[in-house]
Amino acid sequence: MKVFLAGHTGMVGSAILQRLVDRGERILTRTDAEVDLTNQLAVRQFMQSQAPDVVIMAAGRTGGIADRAAHPADFMYQNMIMAANVVHQAHRAGVDRLIYIGASEVYPKAAGQPMKEPMLMTGRLDATNAPFGMAKLAGIALCDAYRAEHGRDYRCVTPTNLYGPGDDFDADRGHVVPGLLRRFHDAVQAGDDRLAIWGTGKPLRDFLYVDDLADAVLFVLDMAASDYVRAVDPTLGHLNIGTGRDVSIRDLCKVIAKVTGFSGRLTLDTTKPDGVQRKLLDSSRLDRLGWESKVMLEDGIRRTYDWFLTRPTG
Ligand code: GDP
Repeated sequence: MKVFLAGHTGMVGSAILQRLVDRGERILTRTDAEVDLTNQLAVRQFMQSQAPDVVIMAAGRTGGIADRAAHPADFMYQNMIMAANVVHQAHRAGVDRLIYIGASEVYPKAAGQPMKEPMLMTGRLDATNAPFGMAKLAGIALCDAYRAEHGRDYRCVTPTNLYGPGDDFDADRGHVVPGLLRRFHDAVQAGDDRLAIWGTGKPLRDFLYVDDLADAVLFVLDMAASDYVRAVDPTLGHLNIGTGRDVSIRDLCKVIAKVTGFSGRLTLDTTKPDGVQRKLLDSSRLDRLGWESKVMLEDGIRRTYDWFLTRPTG
């Protein structure tokens, strides 16, 4: 089986790559410079010449709340065009199996909690999520469309907030876990006794360690096609992947303070947005199929911080 892993250098892609290597799969990867996934012709030529058996679509433009607010066009365009190119050209090249990795930003702002798979498209998206979320929704809808029109076995998963080695630790651009790890680390180094966290500290998030996501992606890919079809809704079919537990940003800060050794006071920078107040995925469908997350938050944060401290770029 020849597996094309799109986006192998990102946080998610790197974790999946490791799992594929562990399993001894035949893996195809290409950097952006080799195959630009926003370029239709490049993707077509690559798919036609390599004819993979399976495609794992882990490529995309990702970033934290501030990055998404600053670059809505880039988030929307890049994610839409990459999904369209990869899904369509995979189909044209005869690839029958594909898994698309979505994101929890696809859920409406006012979705009930925990968020269940059929809640997609039942309301407006949060403004901080909309351009990215709509692009990801389009990716899910595309997979459904190719299943319906062409009988392709194209599957989707919707992970909750992810963190882990390989994340973007830029203090402004990153998601909350790497952003805070970076800022707590810098505060400890500088001997600061105060640190301002963004927003009110009250929002609740479900944080999944990226190795758990990689396990879940391969679990869903390995399922029998009939089991996947039975598990998902006929339109907008996808499976949530989460831990089933959420924590407040304030409690997350306590864990990060412990791991980084920060003992100063936390203040709130309420000029920064909270985003949605609660984001907890209902992953009971995947639970029932036999998958659950393994890495507890503090353990995952420690592993992530260890990676940050020893990462190649310093
Ligand atoms: P979201 O989960 O998709 O909304 O995106 P983020 O991971 O960027 O942010 C999650 C929450 O953490 C939001 O409520 C932010 O206001 C809050 N937060 C607190 N401090 C930080 C920080 O240093 N960086 C980021 N990105 N978010 C922070």
